[in-house]
Parts: sequence; structure tokens; C-alpha cells
Amino acid sequence: MRTGTRRIAVLGLLVACAITLSGCARIRPPRHAPSFDRVMETTGYCSCGKCCNWKRNWLFRPVIASGPSKGQRKKVGYTASGVKAKPGTIAADTSRYPFGTIMYVEGYGYGRVEDRGSAIKGEHIDLYFKSHRDAVKWGRRNARVRVWLPHGGSRSASR
Ligand SMILES: [Zn+2]
Repeated sequence: MRTGTRRIAVLGLLVACAITLSGCARIRPPRHAPSFDRVMETTGYCSCGKCCNWKRNWLFRPVIASGPSKGQRKKVGYTASGVKAKPGTIAADTSRYPFGTIMYVEGYGYGRVEDRGSAIKGEHIDLYFKSHRDAVKWGRRNARVRVWLPHGGSRSASR
């Protein structure tokens, strides 16, 4: 009787965990929030040095490969907003599409703006892939994108 109750409690806990985890992993737009559609230029990227402008120094530590921050330590696999990059991570021009903007990209799925890059300006977004091969396979393409700005903000107030 007692072990049975405990088993049910553990099972309930597991189910609760599974629901929480899947809820966190899946990106969905906010309910009843305004959205708009755009055709954007999209490219693919991954965490590698080629995609994210880093290399290893003589101590084998990753550092930024070029630009004004050349030689500074690089936290590989982390985005400009500080979260871990994963499929669904999007880099955008954050003056237009701030961190937290939800996007649905045709052929890619739901994603969230969590990153930016010096080459990512205007209506150009960069989509994160797990492997360099997948990023290259995506290549460069124009895609229809549905956008939900954070807090349902208007475009002009999105800064
Ligand atoms: Zn790469």
C-alpha cells in the first residue's frame, strides 16, 4: 500500500517533469498577440569557429578571430543574450527584432531571437543548426517569416 502510493507519486513527478521540459523546449508564439508576415533573407549557422568568428589561441582557448574584439575570450555555444544556442535560436538585427521576438520561419519552424551578429542587419536573419553540415545545407534563401514582437510591441517601439 505504502510503496504503491510512493510509486504513483514518483510517476506523477516524472510526468510533471516531462511536461515542464517539453514546454520549455518548444517555442510557441504568445496567445492573442499581434503578428506580421515578412519575406526575409535567411542563412544558417552553427557554433563552429567558421560560423561564429572564433579560433583557438596558443593555449588552445577559443578567442574571437577578427574584428574590434579580436583576441578576446569566446564562450563557444552561447548567444549574445547569454543563453545556450540550440535549434530554434535565431540571430537578428536586434534594433528591429529585439531578444525574445518569436518567429515562424517557413521550412525551419518556430524560433526565438536570442543572438545577433555584425553581418546580420535589416531583414536578414541567421538560423541556428546543430551541425555545420546542416547550416551549410540550409544555405541562403528567402523565406516567409511570421513575427511576434515581444510584449506585442509595435515595430517603431521595438528598440
Ligand atoms: Zn558552422
